[in-house]
Amino acid sequence: MYNLSVRKSGGKEAAETKNRINYYRIFEETLREADLSAENGKKPSLLLHACCAPCSSHVLECLSGHFEITMFYYNPNISPEPEFKTRLNELSRFLKDAGYGYGIESPPYVKEEFDRAVSGLEQLGEGSKRCYRCYELRLRKTAEAALSGGFSFFTTTLSISPYKNSEWLNEIGIRLEKEYGVRYLCSDFKKKNGYKRSIELSEKYGLYRQDYCGCEYSRKEAESRRKSRSESFPG
Ligand code: SF4
Repeated sequence: MYNLSVRKSGGKEAAETKNRINYYRIFEETLREADLSAENGKKPSLLLHACCAPCSSHVLECLSGHFEITMFYYNPNISPEPEFKTRLNELSRFLKDAGYGYGIESPPYVKEEFDRAVSGLEQLGEGSKRCYRCYELRLRKTAEAALSGGFSFFTTTLSISPYKNSEWLNEIGIRLEKEYGVRYLCSDFKKKNGYKRSIELSEKYGLYRQDYCGCEYSRKEAESRRKSRSESFPG
């Protein structure tokens, strides 16, 4: 597990904390708003970008009572392609086993889309600007699809992971909301033990849990972490 925060001097950090947007409060307010609209006839529609089944498990537990959901599996970052397919198939199996009748929209796998997005940043490491670009690529495609599909909201499962920067995700989502005119559901699904719950649900449904984030660089980074651990603790 990595600490993605940037160290700052005490005074500056306190000021930034004070001014920080409370995305979780916005999330809760939006759920209440969605419930009001459901009481008046219909749940609002939500296009939910999903990275994998384990992350979707708890997110769906949080959202399925509030929205009409369509899953959106757009992840050209995942490498190699068989891994992309494994995660998609596992998501599909989970939806069926858990009794969610949601469809999955999945644009074709074009790895070059990811390669272009992170060009020049490949060696920066997990949690860096490379990931910011990766988030934006996936959220932008989701916003485009939400607009063309006439959805009321879009969001992503990504914020459930302790390895993902929720501030960045929300910042990007709000910017895209302005650009595309489709509302972004701010979130931080790891809050209130969300990540722990996703592990419990993964165990319950026997879900495949990958051991690296997705791109070829994160796969190599995970391999080298494993190697250095085994060298530190021989036997
Ligand atoms: S580590 Fe994960 S979030 Fe970062 S670029 Fe790779 S796949 Fe994307």
